[in-house]
Amino acid sequence: MLIDAHAHLDRYGDTLESALEEITQHHIFTISNSMDLPSYRRNLEIGEMCDLVLPTFGVHPWNAPEYADRLEDLSEAIEQSPMLGEIGLDYHFVDDASQYPAQRKVFEVFLAAAKEQGKIVNLHTKGAESDVLDFLNRYEIQRAIVHWFSGPLDVFRELVARGAYFTIGVEVLYSEHIQTIARELPLDQLLTETDNPGGPRSFIGAPGMPLLIRDVVQVLAELKETTVESIVQTVQANLGRLIRDDPWLSDTYVYQISWRHNNE
Ligand SMILES: [Zn+2]
Repeated sequence: MLIDAHAHLDRYGDTLESALEEITQHHIFTISNSMDLPSYRRNLEIGEMCDLVLPTFGVHPWNAPEYADRLEDLSEAIEQSPMLGEIGLDYHFVDDASQYPAQRKVFEVFLAAAKEQGKIVNLHTKGAESDVLDFLNRYEIQRAIVHWFSGPLDVFRELVARGAYFTIGVEVLYSEHIQTIARELPLDQLLTETDNPGGPRSFIGAPGMPLLIRDVVQVLAELKETTVESIVQTVQANLGRLIRDDPWLSDTYVYQISWRHNNE
């Protein structure tokens, strides 16, 4: 079974149906991250349509200013969501530093909840990698998925040392820095992602479709000097280990990952 541990299925318009068909046909377990409350409502609907889709709630750092003064509006969705993402900080695409306090305020609400409720977080770190690391340490976050890490290698190594999992995505096809990260990442902390549909757009010139994950796996197999099949099994086993015994994830998901792993 293929794993897309960071996507945004709510952002597909008319092509959602074909995306879900690909997910079903090729068994791509997909964690569909949210950017804000409306996006989470949509992801919940999509989760109802396909049992390979796990919808999660987060407020993306780009949307943090909109929620910084009404944090109480977030608590119900935070409580309901089995995993928290996409959350984090962005000092790269957001160059207006006056927004950073709002980003940190919203991020901290999610981290406090993740700590208290023992939830996995799905993290955006662009340009703010060492601040994100500091916050993870401060809130003693144990289980983290770091999405599309492209920052400095020293911070990468610290995140690896504290046990984070990393999603490698389509940029590994194009960027030497991402290839270096992918090569160095221990196999047992490796996950895969597409960040579909928007993430791959600047690389492929169109919205990404779920099967892109196969290209990512192919390149990872080359970088890790192993087979495609071995990467597929490793990534599935990694996600299985990460979510094993998770009190928030319904047995359906755990069953999907572990059952298919043992029987495919
Ligand atoms: Zn994303």
